[in-house]
This record gives sequence, C-alpha cells and structure tokens, in this order.
Amino acid sequence: MKRTILIVEDEPHIVMGLRDALEFEGFGVLSASTGKEGVALARSSEPDAIILDLMLPDMNGYAVCEEIRRTSAIVPIIMLTARSQESDKIRGLDAGADDYVTKPFSVNELIARIRAIFRRATRAPAAPETMQIGEATLNVAAHTLTRAGVTEQLSFYEVELLKLLVERTGQAVSRDEILQRIWGLDASPTNRTVDNFIVKLRRKIEKSSDKPAHILTVYGFGYKLVP
Ligand code: CA
Repeated sequence: MKRTILIVEDEPHIVMGLRDALEFEGFGVLSASTGKEGVALARSSEPDAIILDLMLPDMNGYAVCEEIRRTSAIVPIIMLTARSQESDKIRGLDAGADDYVTKPFSVNELIARIRAIFRRATRAPAAPETMQIGEATLNVAAHTLTRAGVTEQLSFYEVELLKLLVERTGQAVSRDEILQRIWGLDASPTNRTVDNFIVKLRRKIEKSSDKPAHILTVYGFGYKLVP
C-alpha cells in the first residue's frame, strides 16, 4: 500500500526538495501552499502523515494544526519551524503536532522520522486491543482512551508512548529511551517533547494531574507507569 504524505509549505524549493526525496522513497506526495488549502486537503484526501510549516501566508501552522486535529486526532503531524525557542515548540505540541523539525533541516533526517512512524504503525500487533491504566481504558486499535464514561481520541504518539509505558509497567523508562523508541531521535535536547506528552496524557488519565497516581515521574531519569 502506497503511503501518502501531505506537505503544507509555501516555499517552492522546500516543497520540491521534499517531494523528490519522498517520491524517491516510494511515498505518494500531495502539497498545499496555504493553510486553508492544507486543511481542506487533509480532510478530503486523508493523508498518512502531514509535514506542516509554521510560517504560511494565510494562517500560522499552529492554527492549521488545530483545524486538522478537529477532524483527525490520529494522523501524525510533523511541524517545520524556523524557530528553535522551546516555547514555540511547546506551543506546536499543544496545538496537536507530534514532532517538529527546526529549519534548516536535513531531508534525510525528516524522512527517517517518517519511516520510523510507519515502521511502528505496521509492526506485528503484539499489543492487546485494550489496556487498563488505573480507571482509564486504552483502546489501541481505535486510538481512544475512556475514563469515567468519557472517551477521547488520542494522537499517534500518545498511543505509542502509552503502549511503551504499559509494556514496561512498574519499570522506570528513561526519557532518552522514550525519545529514541517513539520519536526515533538520538538527541536529548528535545527531552521536553516527552515531558509535554506526559502532561497531556496525565490530563486524560489521572484523577488529579498535579498528583499523578499512575504515570509517575522518576526524577532526573524518566517515567514509570503503575497500574
Ligand atoms: Ca513557509
């Protein structure tokens, strides 16, 4: 099955470089040069992943990301940003992006991340269909989490992170390992990415996200899930 990647970017040379490289790797490529067009294409053609630039002529990438997330919680979104400020990255993750790459970026690195997403997505289904985390039930296939009768959609990375923590229940998992296994990254400057996803998951899982009872912090190291 051919995977389709949607590129939302107004700079023609970046679109061209990405398109060539992605097509060479066997992906189908769609592109949009405005935020509006990107949102419409994301809805009408349901791509398998989206590369989204932060700086677009009509809307900023955060708003585009939020619009796309209204109709698709699952599609992996990688944000391209010229900014390296931590607060901008956090804002991107809050808007629903799964990952970000700072310009100027290496096309090969970006493609490696996309390949890693699909490798995990097609990995043999070792995980059971549902997992219990405290009072919450994770439905792996449907990408949903149900707690106290409320069902929420989770993003691709939220599900992957939870699966990893559940697989290792009771053991501390380091931030570096999480980054490497879920995001396919070796570098540790983006540790805050993991912390941000943990915050989001705690809001959905914990009775009180300030006093987590299930996703615990292991200081200076990482996180541990207790049932
Ligand atoms: Ca741009």
